[in-house]
Amino acid sequence: MTNDLNAPPSTDGPDPSDLSSKFDCAGDILGAGGELLAHLHRSGLRFLPHAGADAVSQWTQRLAAAAPSPDAETHADTAPSPSAAATDNPPTSPGPAPAATSTPAATSTPAHAEPPARRFSPVPATVVSSAPYPGAPLPVAEIATSLQTLATDVAACTRCKALANCRSQTVFGEGPPQPRFVFFGEAPGAEEDKSGRPFVGAAGQLLTKMIDAIHLKRDDVYLLNTVKCRPPGNRNPAPDEIANCREYFETQLQLLRPEYIVCLGAVSAQALLQSKLSIGRLRQTFHQYHDSKVLAIYHPAYLLRNPDAKRAAWADLQMLMKDAGLNPSS
Ligand code: SF4
Repeated sequence: MTNDLNAPPSTDGPDPSDLSSKFDCAGDILGAGGELLAHLHRSGLRFLPHAGADAVSQWTQRLAAAAPSPDAETHADTAPSPSAAATDNPPTSPGPAPAATSTPAATSTPAHAEPPARRFSPVPATVVSSAPYPGAPLPVAEIATSLQTLATDVAACTRCKALANCRSQTVFGEGPPQPRFVFFGEAPGAEEDKSGRPFVGAAGQLLTKMIDAIHLKRDDVYLLNTVKCRPPGNRNPAPDEIANCREYFETQLQLLRPEYIVCLGAVSAQALLQSKLSIGRLRQTFHQYHDSKVLAIYHPAYLLRNPDAKRAAWADLQMLMKDAGLNPSS
C-alpha cells in the first residue's frame, strides 16, 4: 500500500481550528517531516510506503525523545521548503475554519510545558537592495492607473506556454494602491483561477483570519502572487515561470511601495529575496527589498495541512505587529 503525495491531505490529526494550536517538540518534528515530504515531492517522488496513524504517532514519540539540540541543526540551509504545494488553492478537506486570533497557549502536556527550542537558527537579513524603489512615488490616481495598465498586460501575457494554455484567467492582485502592507503569495489555485482574485479559497480564508488577528483588515492590504497564472495540477511554479513573471511582480511592488512585504511560503520568499534558503531559515528576520521590510512566514495552505506550524506563524505575525506598532486601536 502506498501514500499518494498528490492525494488530498488527511483530515486526521490535530484540530486546526486555532492558530494557537499546541506546538511542542513533536510538532517541530512533524513540521520538519512536512518540509521533507515537500522536498521529496519537488524532487519527483510521488509515492511513499504507507504508514498508519499509530505508526506515525509511535515514531513521533521516539523522534521527540531523541530530538537534537538546536545547535545540532547544521543542515538547515539545505532544509526543504514547507510550501511545495502551498498554492492558494484549498486543500480538499481543510477541516474546521481556523480562527487565527488567539495567542498560542502553553501545551497541556507537562512533559512539553517548556517552549520548544528553535529548530532553525535565524539567518542574517537578506538585503536585495538598500536603495529606494526606482523612480519617484506617484500620486494615488496614477498608481491605480498604472496598476490597471499592468494588469491588462498581464492578462494578455503568454510567456509561459504551459500556464497560459491552462489558465482560465490571470490573477493580478488586489488591494489599495498605497498599502502599508503587502502579502505576497505563490500562485493562484483553482478558486483563484476561477474568480480572478487572489486568496479566495480555504487558504485565503485562513489568510484573512491571520490578517484580522494582527488588527488589520483584508481590504487594507494588497494581495498578490509571484506568478499570475495557475500552474497545472497546482504544482509549484517552475524557475523559468517565476523569472518570466518577475517583471510583473517587481513593477507591482515598485508602484505600491509598501512598508512591509509579508512573503507567504518559500516560493515567494525565495523569489523576492533571490535566496535558496528554506522558509525555516528565512522566517523570524526582517529582510530588505528597497524601501520595504520583508518578513517570510509559512503559507496558509501549509498551515492548513500542518496545524502544528501555526504557533511558529503566530510568532512571526507577532513580530510584525510589534515592529509595525499594530494593536487593536490601530
Ligand atoms: S505566469 Fe506570468 S509570465 Fe507566465 S504567462 Fe502568466 S502572466 Fe505571463
